[in-house]
Amino acid sequence: MPYNSANKSDLPTPGKATLGLHADDPDHVTSPNYPLAPSLSLSSTFRLPHPASQIGQELAETGETGLDWQKPPVHIYSRFTSETRGRTEQVLSSLLDSHALTYASGLTAAYGAILHYAPKVIAIRRGYHGVHAGIKIYSRTQDVKIIDLDDEYPKLDVGKRGDGSDTPKGGLLVWVETPLNPTGEARDLQYYTKRAHDAGGVIAVDSTFAPLQNVFEQGVDMLMHSATKYFGGHSDLLMGILAVKDKKQWDQLFDDRSHFGGMPGNMESWLLLRSLRSLQVRWRQQSTTATRLVEWLQTLVQTTSPSATVSQEDQKIIAAGVIERVWHASLQPRKDKDTSATPRFEEGKDFNPATQMKNGWPATFAFRLSDKKKAALLPHETTYFAAATSLGGVESLLEHRLGSDPTEDPCLVRVSVGLEEFEDLQADLRSALLKLI
Ligand SMILES: *Cc1c(COP(=O)(O)O)cnc(C)c1O
Repeated sequence: MPYNSANKSDLPTPGKATLGLHADDPDHVTSPNYPLAPSLSLSSTFRLPHPASQIGQELAETGETGLDWQKPPVHIYSRFTSETRGRTEQVLSSLLDSHALTYASGLTAAYGAILHYAPKVIAIRRGYHGVHAGIKIYSRTQDVKIIDLDDEYPKLDVGKRGDGSDTPKGGLLVWVETPLNPTGEARDLQYYTKRAHDAGGVIAVDSTFAPLQNVFEQGVDMLMHSATKYFGGHSDLLMGILAVKDKKQWDQLFDDRSHFGGMPGNMESWLLLRSLRSLQVRWRQQSTTATRLVEWLQTLVQTTSPSATVSQEDQKIIAAGVIERVWHASLQPRKDKDTSATPRFEEGKDFNPATQMKNGWPATFAFRLSDKKKAALLPHETTYFAAATSLGGVESLLEHRLGSDPTEDPCLVRVSVGLEEFEDLQADLRSALLKLI
């Protein structure tokens, strides 16, 4: 909560956009030298307080192990804490209604989650390919069985970490990515959370494609993000986030991170804090524009009953059958069958993703073109959309996904919608699609 000791209690609980700007405010009554943009300190080490000072005496009494690392009275070494990283995590914790910790990249965060739970069985299906590569690295040190998300979950003899906590070790970890890379389709969190918990397992969710989705409402145990994407939002930093509801679990994650060394640098933390200020407006705009583009692209898929109101140019695209299928959470639940060579995961027919995606549809989605050559060429035929991997930035991107993930449908193009005007992005895609005919 923002804090002002002169004016403490007369305001209602702030909304998320306000928290993004003020959750880390110093108390401006008592803090001298208060720059509005946080200062950037790159220091890796800090001068220790004099033993005769009050804080020096307190430190000698509690020792490093007795410190609350979320609010340390002093910084000691930046592998543990630093001013900017602390402020960034304070804002993230407010935005995510939990205790958040940052990492050097999304994959470092994912790996941190796996090390934390040290599972013997991981249930996962598709999604971001790098997470699968990370699980392979983990499996060098552990006998770990990988099962499909929809397999039967085993009930395991679960151990404890041995640090006095309730965190299980050697159990089942259900890893759900939603919305799913690269299609932006949602998976039913309530369903998988129940299944994981019924089997005595834990569930972690990679929610990178929806930065404001509150997965804790569905009862999940851990939230993971690649902050490189929407949280960063400007294609200029790599970072990851883990968030949990329980402060004790945060303490364990903090301890792990301090000793496997997966924290982000001060510069990146500062860049992320800068980006968090505008997250809400960026996301709302990107999500709205993307959903409009999906709606339009869906009208370009060849159907037996084309609409009479379609423009001549769009009619050409429809007649040529260039776009075979569009995927996006706003199109779920869907009745049209996926007839492609590599059909996608189909969520239960009763699942309405709107119930878990209250803060907007994904701004990243995918469509399939009629052949591989067209899919490879399209990202190079546009003007505003850049042919590039990654997503979530303010500039729109197109990617022939096969280049990043060799297991992907060769005809699939992923779209990351930035902050350009809808009309310009639509005209850009239309013109590129016409060039493919
Ligand atoms: C990008 C991404 C990751 C990996 O994050 P990095 O920051 O690149 O390490 C993990 N999951 C999803 C869904 C992603 O899009």
